Amino acid sequence: MISSKLQQGINDQITAELWSSQLYLQMSYYLKHQGWDGYSHWLRCHAEEERKHATMMADYMTDRGGMVKLQMIDVAPTGWGSVLEVYEHALSHEKMVSKMINTIVLHAIEEQDFATENFFRKFVDEQVEEEALFGGIVDKLRKAGDSGVFFLDAELATRK
Ligand code: MG
Repeated sequence: MISSKLQQGINDQITAELWSSQLYLQMSYYLKHQGWDGYSHWLRCHAEEERKHATMMADYMTDRGGMVKLQMIDVAPTGWGSVLEVYEHALSHEKMVSKMINTIVLHAIEEQDFATENFFRKFVDEQVEEEALFGGIVDKLRKAGDSGVFFLDAELATRK
């Protein structure tokens, strides 16, 4: 059984994952509207990933006898500037998510809930990947000239 404090933390994390999904889907449609099909497609795929994270966490909590409580998802912003600004926002969002995951791991360790510690350590690793992924795109966009931005759009269109 998971403590009520950790259940609250995990429910908040599920909300954050679902909100991330909402944010990336909104970014995807924003970029589609601007004609950036590849960047849009990539973020749409990523929105699906975030939804999967939420259900993985909810399934874990259920397996441990905890109660999943889905909370209200805030509206995502709808306006950005350039493609770079969209991806910079996504990167800073991922950094915030990483901090939240770290806090859950810390609380799990404090409570000696090793199953929860173990489960969320996978997401600590996942966040390293996420930040590297978004950071890599931000980095390329910063270096890219106009043609580079088009080239990267074509490359990201191939994400499965
Ligand atoms: Mg996630």
